[in-house]
Amino acid sequence: MLARYDRAMQSGPRRSATAARRTGIPPRAVTSERLDQPIRDVLPELGGGLATLVRLGIHTPRQALLYLPFRYDDFSDLRPLSDLNPGHKQSARVRVEDIRSEPGFGRRPPRTIAQLSDASGSAEAIWFGRRFIERRLRAGDEIVVSGKVAAQGWRMQFANPEFSPATRESVHTARVVPVYRLVSGVTLRRVRELLARVLDRCLPAVVDPLRPGERVGLVDLALAIRTAHFPDDMEDLQPALDRLAFDELLGLQLTLAQAAAARSHRRAPPIAVSVQTLAEILDALPFRLTADQSRSVAEVTADLAGDEPMRRLLQGDVGSGKTAVAAVALAVVCRGGWQGALMAPTEILARQHHDGLAPLLEALGVRAEFLAGSLPAADKRRIQRRLGRGEADVVVGTHAVISAGVTFQRLGLAVVDEQHRFGVAQRAALQAKAADLEPHMLALTATPIPRTLALTVYGDLTISTLRHSPPGRQPIRTELRDRSALPRIESFIADEAVAGRQTFVVVPLIAESDALTAASAEAEAERLRTALPDLTIDLVHGQQPATTREAAMQRFSGGVTDVLVATTVIEVGIDIPNAAVIVIEDADRFGLAQLHQLRGRVGRGPHRSFCILVSDAADDVARRRLEVVRGSSDGFAIAEADLELRGAGNVLGTRQSGLPPLRVASLFDPRHLELAGRARTLARSLVAADPTLTGRAELVREQRAFAPPDPTGDAA
Ligand code: ADP
Ligand code: MG
Repeated sequence: MLARYDRAMQSGPRRSATAARRTGIPPRAVTSERLDQPIRDVLPELGGGLATLVRLGIHTPRQALLYLPFRYDDFSDLRPLSDLNPGHKQSARVRVEDIRSEPGFGRRPPRTIAQLSDASGSAEAIWFGRRFIERRLRAGDEIVVSGKVAAQGWRMQFANPEFSPATRESVHTARVVPVYRLVSGVTLRRVRELLARVLDRCLPAVVDPLRPGERVGLVDLALAIRTAHFPDDMEDLQPALDRLAFDELLGLQLTLAQAAAARSHRRAPPIAVSVQTLAEILDALPFRLTADQSRSVAEVTADLAGDEPMRRLLQGDVGSGKTAVAAVALAVVCRGGWQGALMAPTEILARQHHDGLAPLLEALGVRAEFLAGSLPAADKRRIQRRLGRGEADVVVGTHAVISAGVTFQRLGLAVVDEQHRFGVAQRAALQAKAADLEPHMLALTATPIPRTLALTVYGDLTISTLRHSPPGRQPIRTELRDRSALPRIESFIADEAVAGRQTFVVVPLIAESDALTAASAEAEAERLRTALPDLTIDLVHGQQPATTREAAMQRFSGGVTDVLVATTVIEVGIDIPNAAVIVIEDADRFGLAQLHQLRGRVGRGPHRSFCILVSDAADDVARRRLEVVRGSSDGFAIAEADLELRGAGNVLGTRQSGLPPLRVASLFDPRHLELAGRARTLARSLVAADPTLTGRAELVREQRAFAPPDPTGDAA
């Protein structure tokens, strides 16, 4: 595998064509443009593999090249069996002496055991689960096995090892091997083999989009891609991933720079508010603004009064009172004769916003409509008509707000809640709803982001911060426990249920796949149903249809359910005052900012509230990280500590942080933050010279391939 690419790199494309002819298949040369065409047209020889790639979300060769592993197993340590060292990942070239399968028994899973030998001695390999290994291996086979070695009594045993025929070089064994995210029904071996074939055919077509002066100190792109999939050595990995991180960050910065350039000549309606009107609006609120809220309101109203479109990010911890600031902004805009829109990522959140805002706005004579995809068509049409005619002042809703049927007469302000859940394209679509003037934009986020990071990620947004929450919130008692405490935690949950309180149980994200995460949520719900037979236990996860999920949320928020087992889909914004306990399992697997956000799901009512972080992690950094969350209720302090403690090598990347989904770059990695600064400078100069980047087709192609798909139906 990968032989053709390596040969091509050594001796140029001529030789590679000759090699192809020798094998009898004259594949059409893959050119750079073809990397973005449907993979089934470019590489028809993949046959049945094409369907597998589609299931992984891969539709073009370039997407395949950028389908990167999330970790690696270093199996390059090839040893004689007599020299195996327990506790390490190793490989051996062996003969299979005997192989047999045992069916499962009670709680014991089925397993397959092979006896292995080489000139130096013998060992064992064991596979758990129904993996049909015995169909692929027979006594007498010469193979290479790779895996983690454990001592079983006096014998050495490979647990769930990879294996391949000893006769040819393999992408699975005796080297550094990539581990990819999977979907159910697709095996790791299959993905590796397919990607190796795609790489072999397509790497020669990769043209480096950066000019030599732009990539000083960075690895060549094709080499970086090859290394990121199949590193010859762990040491090559970092420079390769840095190069890809740079390109990904450059794509993000190009998008931001282009958006800024496109906006620079656009004008917004200046919407000034008199001191008296503002006082009237503030009087209508059921509370007095905190100092932070007042300052943010002043910043927002100053922006609104100008003709430069406002682009402001209001960040504040859960419960810090962002909604009130948004409400004041919407009221100001409507009093000025303009319309406002508020868009939230899910129907529940949108409804919650609407229910919170509507009474407030109505007191001010502002009519707020609720719009979501689930409304009857006739209602939707009626609301659309009212917005188009200017009869409704504010619309609160999901992405239905930016659907094709919606027009505004005079859209002056668009508020976007939890903006990281919306793609850039969707925000742009909302802004395009305003005829010739661009609406002002206010984005709300509960992910506290250190300022340097915010600049890097959000470009030229200005930031308002609610650092201190309104008085009267219940402090949340946070405890750290190991898994052996689960039975005690369960009886605590039961006691709280008797007292009428509800509990969230959060199961961890499993890096390998969303399907596995969902499965572990289901298993946990089942376990709790057995452990707590008197309680009503429900479940939400990202693999459920949105309607199922929302129904479960409704039941929980209506008090029907005692315990809601959930993946991180409950992370954002949901307000259930009666929920007083949140249990977070394997808490060490989460980002600290995310733990803090999850914790914010409780303590929203008058009840004493608890957050129980369950973790068996023994290592020092993991404990210290959890201690940070236990000891602090300041989201910003937590985010900064996280940035410091995580540092490099954080395999889960930004997936859990609430930041834009970057695949390679980690904004928690100081080196990548530096690369981001460099990418920003380059992006600005490229866009200044050539706003449409017409002369840089390769860069644009790569930028598109890196861009995350825009979320569709709903944001799970
Ligand atoms: P966020 O959206 O930032 O999570 P909310 O705007 O939902 O926070 O506010 C959380 C709770 O605090 C709400 O119940 C809200 O009514 C209340 N609240 C907001 N501002 C104030 C204030 N200045 N004084 C008292 N309560 C407030
Ligand atoms: Mg809120």
